[in-house]
Amino acid sequence: MDWLIGAAGALIVAGAAYRKRSLSESGAAAAILMGTIYYGAGNVFWFGTLLLFFITSTLLSRYGKQRKADLEKSYAKTGRRDAGQVFANGGIGMVLCLLNAWFPSDLWVFLFIGVMATVTADTWATEVGSLSRKPPRSVLNGKVLTAGESGGVSWVGSTAAAVGSILIGAGGWLLAGWSGMNAEILPCVLAALAGGLVGAFADSYLGATLQVMYRCRVCGKSVEVSHHCGEDTVRNRGAAWMSNDAVNLVSSLLGGAAAYGIAVLIAL
Ligand SMILES: [Zn+2]
Repeated sequence: MDWLIGAAGALIVAGAAYRKRSLSESGAAAAILMGTIYYGAGNVFWFGTLLLFFITSTLLSRYGKQRKADLEKSYAKTGRRDAGQVFANGGIGMVLCLLNAWFPSDLWVFLFIGVMATVTADTWATEVGSLSRKPPRSVLNGKVLTAGESGGVSWVGSTAAAVGSILIGAGGWLLAGWSGMNAEILPCVLAALAGGLVGAFADSYLGATLQVMYRCRVCGKSVEVSHHCGEDTVRNRGAAWMSNDAVNLVSSLLGGAAAYGIAVLIAL
């Protein structure tokens, strides 16, 4: 029965997101599969926390869309998410949800809170930070960067990351209580805050160091995509396998580890 409820819920949300052009066809299919598992193998806590990330990120990415239209062309992430991006954001959570169904443990729950805080913090920082009038600064050396460049951080973006993380922690705590799990607010919120900030900064740091970047042969810009201005781009730095999705994956794992670490410290 839970699987049917999950499938119906996921279908409604993914269908709406597809109609609003927030998800591509493959992205909608991935979201339906993911939502079904989050509810079927998990419960309202897992499904609701995923929704909290998804709905707030979608709304933020629509806010100020016109201003960002230019930026997005040099960016791997666009407003319309495909299956790869859906799995990059929700894939680890899905694995943790399944692990928790098979071997129930707080470990999976706090890793999940940290992972969801990371993807939320990262998205919020990117979306809100890109609206900032001040240019971002490099996470490596503090040099001023142009908006949208990898590895840029700003106070506006970092504040948004913290707020998004706290929302995941507080929302997760409410949802956990609602689904009959035994959760306290302080560990949930602090774990999410630590996880989100560690994950988002790891994302910026890896984005500025290991992530593969290309140069457009037409406009000369440094971009995350292998195609720009109608031509193939050339790699100019980073590890070829360290795509934007790979950076998200590694930083999510670091954010999850930070959240679990904080939860363990508080429990001592
Ligand atoms: Zn170009």
